[in-house]
Amino acid sequence: MAIVVQKYGGTSVGSIERIKNVAKRVIKARTSGKEVVVVVSAMAGETDRLIGLIKEITDDPPPREYDMVVSAGEQVSAGLLAITLCNMGCRAKALLAYQIPIITDSRHTSARIERINTESILKELEKGYVVVIAGFQGVDRAGNITTLGRGGSDTSAVALASALGAELCEIYTDVDGIYTTDPSIYEKARKLKKISYDEMLEMASLGAKVLQTRSVEFAKKYNVRLLVRSSFRDVEGTLVCKEDEEMEKVVVSGVTYNKDEAKISVVRVPDKPGIAARIFRPLTEEGINVDMIVQNISHDGFTDLTFTVSEKDFKRAFELVKRVAQEIGAKDVEGDTSIAKVSIVGAGMRSHAGVASRMFETLAKEGINIQMISTSEIKISCVVDVKYTELAVRVLHDAFGLEEEEVKEEK
Ligand code: ASP
Ligand code: MG
Repeated sequence: MAIVVQKYGGTSVGSIERIKNVAKRVIKARTSGKEVVVVVSAMAGETDRLIGLIKEITDDPPPREYDMVVSAGEQVSAGLLAITLCNMGCRAKALLAYQIPIITDSRHTSARIERINTESILKELEKGYVVVIAGFQGVDRAGNITTLGRGGSDTSAVALASALGAELCEIYTDVDGIYTTDPSIYEKARKLKKISYDEMLEMASLGAKVLQTRSVEFAKKYNVRLLVRSSFRDVEGTLVCKEDEEMEKVVVSGVTYNKDEAKISVVRVPDKPGIAARIFRPLTEEGINVDMIVQNISHDGFTDLTFTVSEKDFKRAFELVKRVAQEIGAKDVEGDTSIAKVSIVGAGMRSHAGVASRMFETLAKEGINIQMISTSEIKISCVVDVKYTELAVRVLHDAFGLEEEEVKEEK
């Protein structure tokens, strides 16, 4: 019999009423003749609550004990779902990671899955049980409980689907699927039928917070088909899968934005070898991620260097860079937190010319100034004044015809 893995997020198991609703879905899949393995998150807000309790004691807990606490939410939701299923006449058994086991490395709070013993799961399936597994957690070789990072039950589900050779990994959440842009800022946003792993990775890291990035990387590596869909409404979701020919014909699949960025410019830096390293090394050492970097060609031996960091790191980064700037004889350091990054993403960009210029012209027509630009094979990002974020998203969405069903560009 074919195995399907269904993962339910925190809002989907947020109350007993909702857990009953989930149980109905599980039973439906079961009666359609599938072996069902369910992975659950903690009930909505529960993981935050547990972290809050720890914070009341200390900001710096021992990571092993932190995992002991935060992994607990999933135990409760897994047990509650199994009880609900049994109560509805469906044999079910809840399992924690160590009972399977799902072996991870020992990096507490962001462990990586190394191996899953599928035998224990298959044995229960054979006996006719639906297996409900606590997501987000693992166990290291020494028997310590680990967790996979926030949002990690997506990764649990994908890893289980891969290990079990499941035909599909369904991710049930509070949205209908992946949209061409954020429906809350543009009503013309359209749900995508399909999206490639690479596009999804670009979209995920750009702020479409539907799937944990690592779960998509995992799915890509092991070729696990993911179906993102709503646990509340019976509508078709979005399939995340390998790129196919049809996808290549679509130039742009989505427009994303991120307002949590800030810009730092080092003005009139002496243009000498080693300057960039001097500026960025202290940031790396402090664990501050730099996103976009732009350096101008130099005039009379001086250059300007501008880069972005996430807004939460801005103050620290600014102080660090000010110090370095003095040491290396730069004229000034300027900071700006009122910026946003607006991006277009699409696998078809690889084979289509003129996408960037269309993006720039579209923004120019609205009088939106582009402060920085960066590109990858399947993405173009522009930094603009934050007040233009929504406008930029809408005009780009229109310019690339994203509202229309199955837009296809002829060469
Ligand atoms: N409960 C965990 C969290 O809130 C894991 C998850 O929901 O995927 O991050
Ligand atoms: Mg999630």
